[in-house]
Amino acid sequence: MPTMGALHGGHVALVKKCKEENDISTVSIFINPLQFNSKNDLLNYPRNTDKDLEILKEQSVDSIFIPDEKEMYPVPDERVFNFGCLDKTMEGLSRPSHFNGVAKIVSRLLQITEADRAYFGEKDYQQLAIIKHLVKNLNFNTKIVPFPTIREKDGLARSSRNVLLTDEQRRNAAVISQVLNEASKNTNLTVKELKNLVYRKITETPGLEIEYFEIADRETLQPVVSREVSENGLIGCIAVKTGKVRLIDNMFF
Ligand code: AMP
Repeated sequence: MPTMGALHGGHVALVKKCKEENDISTVSIFINPLQFNSKNDLLNYPRNTDKDLEILKEQSVDSIFIPDEKEMYPVPDERVFNFGCLDKTMEGLSRPSHFNGVAKIVSRLLQITEADRAYFGEKDYQQLAIIKHLVKNLNFNTKIVPFPTIREKDGLARSSRNVLLTDEQRRNAAVISQVLNEASKNTNLTVKELKNLVYRKITETPGLEIEYFEIADRETLQPVVSREVSENGLIGCIAVKTGKVRLIDNMFF
């Protein structure tokens, strides 16, 4: 199970599932510089290895892999991946080269561990889709196991970045999942009306600034303009900024 550390309840739930389904479980902690678009985001990313180790020991994880940058990238990794249409929307547009960096580290971790199964959260839904594509394309023998998003009591998706929020930002951030939830249940509204609803509610909330909200096909991740065009079902994906912190979330529609 790959992580970037600063472990929280979402990670722990994934670890528990990984332990349940496998004889040997391995968790990696590596803040992969190649997937960060902004130096400040990388510098400010929360780090707490001592607490992470405590949490993982408590879960009786069999092995913990904490490589440094030299170990992961002994020579520059110059590979360029092609994810078809999957990275041409949402996070792929907002964070150019992010998924290429994710693919570099995940492919390396899978090669090192030769894992039978690897666990990824639906919280990062586009990442999950891209990793499934990567594993098929490169013929990895690893099964990618998705895991539903773990949330705080008020609905906010658990994220390592939540600790960077002020109390006020934290309170307001609950609106993100609440509006997704409301929109996902409004089956009588058109895609355009749903987008208006989400944009309005986020914009009305002090301190929240919407970067994108798309309703997309769950498989291709292409945004739709009408509910009828998707056979695979729909997903609503959102990115919101509050102060310097960027939060993402999604829900099935
Ligand atoms: P990260 O440390 O943020 O790279 O996350 C490591 C793994 O945990 C990724 O597969 C994430 O999608 C997953 N994850 C992070 N937050 C959550 C959450 N709230 N619920 C479920 N999975 C999560």
